[in-house]
Amino acid sequence: MASDESQEEFSIHWIRDLVDEVLERSPEQYLIVTGKSMSGSVHIGFMKEIIIADVIKRELHALGKNAKTVFISDDYDPIRSFPPSLTLSPDEYMGVPYSDAPDPHGCCESLGAHWTNELVESFPEFGADPEVVLQSKLYETKEMLDAVRTCLVNTETIREILIEFVAHDFGDKQRAEYIESMKTWYPASVICPVCGRIQSGGKGSIVPNRVTAYNQEEDEVSYECAHCGHSETAKFDKLRLKLSWRVDWPAKWYVMQTTVEPAGKDHAVKGGSYDTGLEMSRRVFGWSGPVKVPFEWVRLAGKDMGTSKGNVFTPRSWLNIAPPELFRYMVLRTDLEKSNNIQTDLIPDLVDIYETFERTYYGFDDVDNEKQDFARVLYPNTEVRPVSDEYIPKLSFKFAIVTSQLQGIVGERVILGRCYDVLKKQHSLTDISPEAKALIPTRLSRALAWVKEFGSEQDIVDVPETVSDEIITTLTDDDKRFLSRFVEILEKESLDEDSIQTAIFTTAKEVEIKPKRAFQVLYKILISRKSGPRLGPFLLLLGTDWVLERIRSLL
Ligand SMILES: [Zn+2]
Ligand SMILES: [Zn+2]
Repeated sequence: MASDESQEEFSIHWIRDLVDEVLERSPEQYLIVTGKSMSGSVHIGFMKEIIIADVIKRELHALGKNAKTVFISDDYDPIRSFPPSLTLSPDEYMGVPYSDAPDPHGCCESLGAHWTNELVESFPEFGADPEVVLQSKLYETKEMLDAVRTCLVNTETIREILIEFVAHDFGDKQRAEYIESMKTWYPASVICPVCGRIQSGGKGSIVPNRVTAYNQEEDEVSYECAHCGHSETAKFDKLRLKLSWRVDWPAKWYVMQTTVEPAGKDHAVKGGSYDTGLEMSRRVFGWSGPVKVPFEWVRLAGKDMGTSKGNVFTPRSWLNIAPPELFRYMVLRTDLEKSNNIQTDLIPDLVDIYETFERTYYGFDDVDNEKQDFARVLYPNTEVRPVSDEYIPKLSFKFAIVTSQLQGIVGERVILGRCYDVLKKQHSLTDISPEAKALIPTRLSRALAWVKEFGSEQDIVDVPETVSDEIITTLTDDDKRFLSRFVEILEKESLDEDSIQTAIFTTAKEVEIKPKRAFQVLYKILISRKSGPRLGPFLLLLGTDWVLERIRSLL
């Protein structure tokens, strides 16, 4: 992310341009839709889509428009693979819709619902509140079934569109084969009432239970199950059908009357599934379809993220280590078509950058108009709660990293008291508001989780209960004279951070050892290392009594 600093766009922000484009539609209610297939725990990258949608809604609300966000969970898709951690048998459930497979965790209506719930429960913490629609339930509505029927009736048009879009850069032979295969192709498949599958085979060998004929007069559908061989011709409304994925999307747009939908670059690429869907919107459903909002993915430490690969960095994983506002800031501050790279090791620096930006919004720092303008547009969109009139001071994340690791030694109450002191000092306050106090425990727990998972050796502060013999034997007589003298100073007066730093220097000079050596001695007897966090604040955190006892035990 540090390198992404150069990507900041301070002039005209994309949010305004996008909202202008959406406003041209002027529906009664602006519907901003997002969607995700449910093939496993969903990674944090998807939150970019949710946040883009949320920002469009907020801006429309600010203009007095009626706007709503919707999240469609595509839980009606067939199971193609399982994450390795799942206990369900792949043989038993491959080809079954996620919404029809049981939840092996035992808590939800289906496997699809489980992953949906896992994702959806993090939305409010990221400041988003879309209405949740399960695709499997949508397919039970009359409106959706009518749309499926419309597609079957318009099969010939859909075939033409697909040949136009899918086969346009094929070679002659491949194109001829594709056109031939499309002659018998129908845009829907049937969930077999005998074996429960909508397709057979796994990755690379998938055969859908495609509709083989549709009799419009009788409203009858013929199909054959590729898995168990069951075949029949039955009334449309006696069967469970699902549209092919390129057709499913425009059908949902039409049924929902979607005004705008963001899409990752894989779908939004020119001539891709989004454009195919827009063409179907016009020629099959007779309307324009939504405003297309393409965006680049979020990458994790320089790599693209996948859903079903196991070990997924989820929205919850983010919330454990960092504030949601930071994530919103990261995806919103750059152009949508630039990728965002999450470098988890840089979280403490990024929190600092975000909180400097926050202070710019509140007018603390003297910055140019452009920067202030940028903050005025962007900051309210990064917040997960309504923007507070008054600035709420935040405890430095870097201070929280050290502090949080000492809770076991000095206790939570002492730690909180110390955090209040530091917050006052950092922000020159005489008093701390309840709002500011309320943020501290979460900041400490995130900092602790971050250091445990992503902190470097330098970030880790491990205070052993006693000083090891190994370290005691390295202490020279000079070192001990320094420690005795330092104890006397600590006993005599109560020092603040800066005077502790000064006292270490002057005491070292007095007993004629190098200040560097004096610092090393203290680090060694406190954390068994030669360096560590700044000693003044660190000794205050541990408390004078604790430090005196520690040093006396060595003399
Ligand atoms: Zn569950
Ligand atoms: Zn079957």
